[in-house]
Amino acid sequence: MPVDFQKLAVEGVRELQPYQPGKPIEEVAREHGLDPASIIKLASNENPLGPSPKALSAAREALSELALYPDGNAFLLKNALSERFGVGADQITLGNGSNDVLELAARTFAGPGAEVIFSEYAFAVYPIATRAVGASGVAVPAHEWGHDLDAMAGAITERTRLIFVANPNNPTGTAVDRATLVAFLDRVPERIPVVLDEAYCEYMTDPAYPDGLALLRDYPNLIVARTFSKAWGLAGLRVGYALSSPEIADLMNRVRQPFNVDNVAQAAATAVLDDADYLAESRQVNEVGRAQLMAGFGQMGLATIPSHGNFVTVDTGRDANDVFEAMLSDGVIVRPLGGYGMPRHLRISVGLVHENERCIAALGRALGVAS
Ligand SMILES: *Cc1c(COP(=O)(O)O)cnc(C)c1O
Repeated sequence: MPVDFQKLAVEGVRELQPYQPGKPIEEVAREHGLDPASIIKLASNENPLGPSPKALSAAREALSELALYPDGNAFLLKNALSERFGVGADQITLGNGSNDVLELAARTFAGPGAEVIFSEYAFAVYPIATRAVGASGVAVPAHEWGHDLDAMAGAITERTRLIFVANPNNPTGTAVDRATLVAFLDRVPERIPVVLDEAYCEYMTDPAYPDGLALLRDYPNLIVARTFSKAWGLAGLRVGYALSSPEIADLMNRVRQPFNVDNVAQAAATAVLDDADYLAESRQVNEVGRAQLMAGFGQMGLATIPSHGNFVTVDTGRDANDVFEAMLSDGVIVRPLGGYGMPRHLRISVGLVHENERCIAALGRALGVAS
């Protein structure tokens, strides 16, 4: 009898659905016989500007050290983060992308028998990180596509060990304001860590929206997760970080792989923190492009969810997978959201003006409406 490895896998892993990433350009080129250079990818909320020149030159320099292990304690990067955010180096946990940080939080605080709370339509990594450690996910129904923090607080039980809140949320772009978040944090018992995932915080402009960092002092159970993948333009290098109390950081660092952020990534992330112009341009390009996409979709009569991130989620009014396929053959990669329980929606990342134009035109063609 051949061994049935399905039965040997731990329970949480057996029932996992793998994360579905945005389709890579090379794959679409192969499958559709297209020139890769003609394809635009607006599927993974990447920064359309490409990397900052400062990050690029620091990364190039770090290449000469590839034979050496990175600084496992990332002294320079932690120093730079400390200075920028006014936190101690002992409050920082670095991750191989902030995805890593989310998993570290789950491994540190949840396990078999534990419950982990997150919202319906929230980031797909939360249920994966939860089940992988043998805990059960509690997906709380959303309110107007966003987090219903009242209902999430109401879902807390004795077994709750961790809560994930994405602000703004991916894939819906919704955000909770400061008063609502604070009222929620006040209701969460201090024994339950709350991961506030701020992957898109650099794009937030409305002063009514909270800066998780400012809440750390009042909430010792708060873990603010951030990333260099979005506004900072380093998705390919995989760097993220958590800011928390020193006690929580100490625990999360115990389960962290000793060299989870490589030396090229450390160098580029350290350098980009100094590139204020790059960040300002990222924000500017995003504001303009997001308005352009919203207007284009609106003109086609499509409903969009108001977004605080670098993407727009649009209701195509039909099976979005078909629309996604039609756009692919036009060389435009977007993200269908069937896996999130939103079968009619596409999530479209904000690109450069000419990319947004092409995307709007391709969507119009796919839907058979004038754009
Ligand atoms: C993109 C994203 C992340 C993390 O991305 P990394 O590249 O792993 O840093 C985390 N949370 C949300 C909500 C995201 O959209």
